[in-house]
Amino acid sequence: MPPQYSWIIPIYNEEETLREMYRRISAVADRMDGLVEFILINDGSRDRSLQIIRELHQQDKRVCYLSLARNFGHQMAVTAGLNFARGQVIVVLDADLQDPPELIPDMVEKWRQGYQVVYAQRLKRRKETVFKRFTAYVFYRLLKSLAEVDIPTDTGDFCLMDRQVVDLLNAMPEQNRYIRGLRSWVGFQQTAIRFERNPRFAGDVKYTFRKSLGLAVNSLVSFSKVPLRLSTYLGLLSAALALFMSVLVLYWRLTSPDSPLTGFATIAIAIFFLGSVQLISIGILGEYIGRIYEEVKARPLYTLAEVGGFASQNSNSNKRQK
Ligand code: UDP
Ligand code: MG
Repeated sequence: MPPQYSWIIPIYNEEETLREMYRRISAVADRMDGLVEFILINDGSRDRSLQIIRELHQQDKRVCYLSLARNFGHQMAVTAGLNFARGQVIVVLDADLQDPPELIPDMVEKWRQGYQVVYAQRLKRRKETVFKRFTAYVFYRLLKSLAEVDIPTDTGDFCLMDRQVVDLLNAMPEQNRYIRGLRSWVGFQQTAIRFERNPRFAGDVKYTFRKSLGLAVNSLVSFSKVPLRLSTYLGLLSAALALFMSVLVLYWRLTSPDSPLTGFATIAIAIFFLGSVQLISIGILGEYIGRIYEEVKARPLYTLAEVGGFASQNSNSNKRQK
């Protein structure tokens, strides 16, 4: 009998948290009204995570796992889990227990009321650095103002999705997957459930500053064309400035011939200004072209080294989902 619930958990070097995580999720799963499958995705961990996952699978047949052949990043790990999930109700949560599994029954309650997506919205972030909180705050607001779809602020990947939504996500061929964005894009009835984000149970953050910045740029470029327009605006601005300057210079020539506006500084500033406008514009273009290049190559989204606990009909993932 296929499970009713699939809980997807991406894992990258989480050996210290895995056993505690399993204890917490299985305690919640025992109280659910249907069969639960846990899908643990090892995203190329370099510590003992995979061994622990195998042990958990031995102990408890509800634990299924995928092991990606290298580190593909959080979004791809979740994508792999979504491809394999068999349940009617799919939940995505982090392995570090920052997303409390005890919230899942409340999310399911909302699903029963008819919502296809229930996302968890953070009210507070406990024990995260001021820098992280500040950058996250700015980023979510910037994304909200630029993106073409309404992506709710302060939501992570912790969410519940109906089978219908997951089927749609699986059908999207995109290489650059910003799951929160795609999840909003599909539409349907969506609602929030608010919670205070706990600190990590153990270990360090796996999302380095570089990875977070990459995710931020990716989400902006994938969900907004406004940055492309920025170069047009910058160009118009510098054209207006140039026009104004030429009128001013002409005026000074005619009225006071020893005008001070002939120095080196003026020219240097103009050159630097134009140079930077051009470089910024090329950079923005590059972000979009680079993504077109990625999409055109159409490589598989991830490669799998090991699969445990799924029935054989599910070996469809090394192919691109069309
Ligand atoms: N993770 C992953 N691949 C990565 C980085 C992180 O699968 O390349 C997982 C990690 O194990 C955790 C989740 O993604 O379960 C969120 O990572 P983390 O807690 O480091 O980031 P946060 O969202 O808390 O900043
Ligand atoms: Mg975390």
